[in-house]
Amino acid sequence: MAIEIPFRREFSFEYGRLEPVAPGVRRIVARNPSPFTFRGTGTYVVGSGEVAVIDPGPDLDEHVEALLAGLSGEQVTHILITHTHRDHSPAAAPLKAATGALTWGFGPHAGGRRGEQGVEEGGDWDFFPDVMLHDGDEVAGNGWRFEAVHTPGHTSNHLCFALSDSGILFTGDHVMGWSTSVISPPDGDMTAYLASLDKLLGRHDRVYWPTHGPAITEPREHVRAFIAHRREREAGILDCLAIGVGHIDAIVERLYVGLQPGLRRAAGRSVQAHLIDLAGRGIVASEGPPTPDTHYRLARS
Ligand SMILES: [Zn+2]
Repeated sequence: MAIEIPFRREFSFEYGRLEPVAPGVRRIVARNPSPFTFRGTGTYVVGSGEVAVIDPGPDLDEHVEALLAGLSGEQVTHILITHTHRDHSPAAAPLKAATGALTWGFGPHAGGRRGEQGVEEGGDWDFFPDVMLHDGDEVAGNGWRFEAVHTPGHTSNHLCFALSDSGILFTGDHVMGWSTSVISPPDGDMTAYLASLDKLLGRHDRVYWPTHGPAITEPREHVRAFIAHRREREAGILDCLAIGVGHIDAIVERLYVGLQPGLRRAAGRSVQAHLIDLAGRGIVASEGPPTPDTHYRLARS
């Protein structure tokens, strides 16, 4: 029986407006809707007077201008980045230029290993944080304090930010309500992603605010469903391999029924991520390196 993920897609907002969404938290949504961003990037503002901005978003002039207009009379003191995808971090540069605020993040995209990562189209290779954060580090401003929670998987440099004394966790693209996360090797890593989901189950956050879409008010139920969904997908992949279906395209064909054509590539990447994870656990073998085009089989057969 298929795992039911309690997706949340009711999402009320107005493009270009900085709106309150929780005590001390505002959000403005960029006009970059797509099959990967839902209605667009949600840029969060925490505090009042002297504020932190989480994920300034894509480099869209109208988005940065609307954010600054919404913050008229206030000062941006910190720019926090969950991860370096092009819908999250590029607007950090114009926002920093306009405000002088420093940028905070785990590190550059894929650790800066651009040469080995040429296949990935969504990375923002230009972003380098002014201040590098590690798991458990704190970032504090006027009236607010965050703990950085390293959650690799969607990207190796993904951070969630826990807002102290609020029960709020800003989850970036690690856990979203409207969709599962894309795990695209080589920087995307299924083994790390599943460990990062487990990590959240060990925490006691009350509500998740992802970068795309609405809040998740039953976080544990949601995370458990995502873990179960990935285990179900893994079982489906193993079933394919057991009957000799060993190419990623053919596995996607069998497992992703009714998939939009524009999402086939992402589905293939997720299957590849599972296969790399399974190979790492000694369950699957491949002819040569675990590339998108190679043939995979069960290790024991
Ligand atoms: Zn992302």
